[in-house]
Amino acid sequence: MSDFNINKDRWDSRSLLLIGIIYLLAQSFIYSRTLKMPIIINNKTIIVSSSAQARTVLSAHGYRLTPGDLLDSHGKIVLKGGGRPPMIYLNNQPLQAATTLKRDDKIRYLPGKNIKDKFASRVVAIPFRTKIIGRGDYSSLRRFGAGGKREEVFGEKSGKIIFSKIISYPEPTIIKRLKTAPTKKVALTFDDGPEPPYTEQIINILKERRAPATFFVLGRQVRKYPEILAATAADGFVIGSHTVDHARLDLMDTHSIDLELDISRQLITQNTKIVPTWFRPPYGELNDLVATEAAKYNYKIALWNVDSLDWKAPDPEFIWQQLVPEIKPGAIILMHDGGGDRHNTVAILPRLISYLRENGYEIVSLDELYGK
Ligand SMILES: [Zn+2]
Repeated sequence: MSDFNINKDRWDSRSLLLIGIIYLLAQSFIYSRTLKMPIIINNKTIIVSSSAQARTVLSAHGYRLTPGDLLDSHGKIVLKGGGRPPMIYLNNQPLQAATTLKRDDKIRYLPGKNIKDKFASRVVAIPFRTKIIGRGDYSSLRRFGAGGKREEVFGEKSGKIIFSKIISYPEPTIIKRLKTAPTKKVALTFDDGPEPPYTEQIINILKERRAPATFFVLGRQVRKYPEILAATAADGFVIGSHTVDHARLDLMDTHSIDLELDISRQLITQNTKIVPTWFRPPYGELNDLVATEAAKYNYKIALWNVDSLDWKAPDPEFIWQQLVPEIKPGAIILMHDGGGDRHNTVAILPRLISYLRENGYEIVSLDELYGK
């Protein structure tokens, strides 16, 4: 019993001391949290708690911390928060993001402002388009297009276009497709060369019979056989471009089409001293973009309306059966001197020329076929 009392007394004095310390700590904590102090905002004294954050205080007392808005000329908001932000100084220094206030701190607050966007103007190019008009196997440039111009007035900050006026309208490139005249004239065309020995064999047959023809050559073949190309041109045959790599131009972008056209033209000119005026897109694939690029080179574009299918002919008779029923006034006959074994094409050619003339057809150049 007495032991218990002694322990109890001992516990009481210790615990009292502990409670006392805790009480004092709590008091000082509560005191510090609830301690009020004066600060000054725009010359007005405000009492705040000692640990207050500057931005919280400003916000609590109705000072907006968000920027003003960006307005258009009619006062309509074009960009919320796009105006001037408020300017806040604490004791003459710009207020930092998180700042705890101290007694007698001085805040100077200038509210954010709406800003009216300044206007600027610019002239914007309007690109021109290409129109292919008419139908037919031959097309030529009627007019090369010209871009238009538009003036735009826009908000300098917002970028918003407020006013737009066309200064000049774009004029499209016009490419006209024509049908051949229904006179008894035909043109012979040979694609995908030069290729030995077929090109030379074909040339010899044509020369002997005084038959004109156009050769749509590939740049990659010209690189391999420049002397055959030079001889073909020297013999008076028309050389046209058929691109460098026999590519599907209709699947390409402007730059790639342009490269095909530019390089193939250079290769022809370097080896013949002639600037080609005729172009045939591989596979006859012609779209607006291909037509536009060809127009830049002033090319006349020739497709065909009679396909000999010589490229898949197992024998000369197949070509003959294919060709003869198709022959008509104004025929552009497609044959090949390159791209594979063309001995069947060579074999059929004398017979074809004879047939045409016996039936009253005149073999003419592409230019003549179109009365040019
Ligand atoms: Zn071809």
